[in-house]
Amino acid sequence: MGGLSGSSQGEVIARRFTERFGHAPVVVARAPGRVNLIGEHVDYNDGLVLPIALEQSTHVAAAPRSDGVARAVSLKLGREHTWSMSQWEPTSGAEWTAYVAGVTLLLAERGGAPRGFDLLIDSDVPVGGGLSSSAALELATTLALAHLAGLRLAPVELARLAHEAERRYAGVPCGIMDQYVGALARPGAALLLDCRSQTWDYVPLELAEHDLVVVDSGIRHALASGDYARRREECRAALTMIQQVDARVRSLREVTSQTLAAAASTMTPALAARARHVVGEIERVRSAAAALSRGELRRFGELLGASHASLRDDFMVSTPEIDRLVDIAGSVPGVLGARLTGGGFGGCVIVLVESSRVESLRAAICDQYDRAGLGPARLMSVRAAGAASIVFDVQGTEAA
Ligand code: ADP
Ligand code: MG
Repeated sequence: MGGLSGSSQGEVIARRFTERFGHAPVVVARAPGRVNLIGEHVDYNDGLVLPIALEQSTHVAAAPRSDGVARAVSLKLGREHTWSMSQWEPTSGAEWTAYVAGVTLLLAERGGAPRGFDLLIDSDVPVGGGLSSSAALELATTLALAHLAGLRLAPVELARLAHEAERRYAGVPCGIMDQYVGALARPGAALLLDCRSQTWDYVPLELAEHDLVVVDSGIRHALASGDYARRREECRAALTMIQQVDARVRSLREVTSQTLAAAASTMTPALAARARHVVGEIERVRSAAAALSRGELRRFGELLGASHASLRDDFMVSTPEIDRLVDIAGSVPGVLGARLTGGGFGGCVIVLVESSRVESLRAAICDQYDRAGLGPARLMSVRAAGAASIVFDVQGTEAA
């Protein structure tokens, strides 16, 4: 396996696979977690988002089987699961097998599923923390299994298939952001993604003496159940009310502040607040992309703060622990801005901070969050990494 050089995580997972299954993998694929810099809860409202892919990623190693059996192991979530390729049921096995089985069903619809496989998942993306471990799993699984079946997918096809797997088989009514950034990201750049036209631009992320720090609150959400779906529903309800005022509007993306002001009195204060968040947040994404391309990090930091206030007060997806982390960060000299990132109800905060102040940030969080019994919080300095790819295949041809 000469092609393994240069990917130590790939090497480790290949070894684990061999130990587990008694034969070597044929392919290893990697897909990144992601953090959304700004543009929260706007992807399903046809809005704009600005995520980066992370170096933290999920690796999937796989080899084909000819007997119609699928065997999958997640090193993170334990026990091996086995099912027949022709008889997978959503209720059988662990909840996470839905992501893997869903991908195989969609690949089969496109004529590119292996007949059976052994598959092993390893990941350093926190699960359920808002860094999209789910999209990383779907993308890496899709790449690996498509490869076994000899199917080559263009990045956008990869993103669409992974997105469909999450919606149809994991039952999460998510927008396209996570799968698109995982499939399309470039190192050193954020992805400015227009979720309406499904087109994108790259915005160079030049942080000159600053760090982007992701702080995992340790508090976990359950996206599929409840709150996320309720917010989507509220956005739809607000849109319906706005359409009574302006019938041309097709999504909250198309709502101006003036239209919103005119329609606000026709809805409950809560619905008006949800719409206000979406309309304002899309504007903030535009401003943030412009600020980043001009190197105006102070302005970018202010927009992070404004986004958090809106998520907390208008969209109401923050929690006391997340607000506490944002407030602690805000009190540390050298912090330019902080906000909740991801769907909310726990998860992570991102902080833009002068590099020389990262340790003060860490100390403040340890002192005021962990010692107050809220943590432990985990800090990670993150960089904009590249898209999902095949790390190696059995020919030893390492992918670029
Ligand atoms: P997030 O995408 O923010 O991490 P989600 O709730 O969308 O949170 O997805 C988390 C789910 O994805 C897990 O509950 C599990 O089913 C699946 N998953 C993610 N990473 C892994 C992994 N390494 N192994 C097995 N399942 C995983
Ligand atoms: Mg997810």
